Amino acid sequence: MNLDRLKTTAGLDVAGKRVLVRADLNVPVRDGKVTDATRLERLVPGLNDLASRGAKVIVISHFGRPKGGPSDEFSLKPVADQFSTLLGKPVAFASDCIGEKASATVSAMNNGDIAVLENLRFHKGEEKNDSAFAAELAKLGDIFVGDAFSCAHRAHASTEGLTHRLPSYAGPLLMEEINALRKALEVPQRPTAAVVGGAKVSTKIPVLTNLVAKVDKLIIGGGMANTFLQAMGVNVGKSLSEPEFHATAHEIMAAAKAKGCEIVLPVDAVIAREFKEGAANEVVALDKVPSDGMILDVGPASVAHVAKVLEGCRTLLWNGPMGAFEIAPFGTGTFALAKQAAELTKAGKLVSVAGCGDTVAALNAAGVTDDFTYVSTAGGAFLEWLEGQELPGVAALTR
Ligand code: AMP
Repeated sequence: MNLDRLKTTAGLDVAGKRVLVRADLNVPVRDGKVTDATRLERLVPGLNDLASRGAKVIVISHFGRPKGGPSDEFSLKPVADQFSTLLGKPVAFASDCIGEKASATVSAMNNGDIAVLENLRFHKGEEKNDSAFAAELAKLGDIFVGDAFSCAHRAHASTEGLTHRLPSYAGPLLMEEINALRKALEVPQRPTAAVVGGAKVSTKIPVLTNLVAKVDKLIIGGGMANTFLQAMGVNVGKSLSEPEFHATAHEIMAAAKAKGCEIVLPVDAVIAREFKEGAANEVVALDKVPSDGMILDVGPASVAHVAKVLEGCRTLLWNGPMGAFEIAPFGTGTFALAKQAAELTKAGKLVSVAGCGDTVAALNAAGVTDDFTYVSTAGGAFLEWLEGQELPGVAALTR
């Protein structure tokens, strides 16, 4: 996959053209109201740009995981309504994404109009990447714009299939995401650091394996650090750990050594006897973890050490919290490091790219999301990129 071959619609005459935009409208909705419109807000400038250039903009997306056909629960209608407010203009809605209803909605559009079609996953052909379904979708457009990076790790009809049938372009959000990830991982300013935290080693083995071959410093935190520490002979008491992955931890450490990547592990810990908000806690050295204690956060000496490592780096990639950040006060280490990375970024000393749900929640809680160079809300696609995998929905746009 040659990412330099990705092209956008910039400079293309789209006036009068029906532009099918695969967006990610899969936003949280409660009682018919969108509760976090971040994804929709990010789409607004790109869609309004196409509309202002005279395109007929037809937005397609999945929404949730409907089983067995259409249902009100998984309808995109409430999302389309809120989208209309954000776009500042009426948005037509078709109650099916293919067939007569969709083509009637599209036929009624004028240049500069925006329409949203109903949930793609109401048809089985979407997730099966069925060519007949892709052909039905393709009838509705003259060109295709892939702008849902968060869905690009799946070869579905709307992310991959359509690219075989229509002239295809990368959308501005997808480009932004890829440029940020390339800046962090493919052509970074060195030295580079990656922070990988979260619950378990077992869910991030391919991420860790790929990163040790790419970054200069791999900072491991969260529950997964316990497995590494335990593999090195540290008594981690009742902490979350995966003894069955000791061998994997040793393999990752050996691979890091061979590649010249320094693995940075915590040097102290915040422990508690209960996994609950406000539980009595104390800072201990790693050789003093009590047998009935749980490590729930990195300690101040670890924070100071990692901060020093970050000061010496030019690029940071972050995935996963350093501790059980949702439960006060065990977010202290994660928030302190997030603030440090944000300060270095603001001072122009660091390019900082972070991603995935928990990490975004932690950065939001620390109040620093806007200070990072780029924060990705993509989950699976972000992780697969960190694993070094080719994403079918991106590769298809480079052909
Ligand atoms: P992940 O989805 O793998 O990124 O894991 C995120 C989860 O890991 C968060 O819900 C954290 O609360 C949890 N976590 C991080 N550190 C610890 C720890 N030391 N003990 C237990 N859970 C942790």
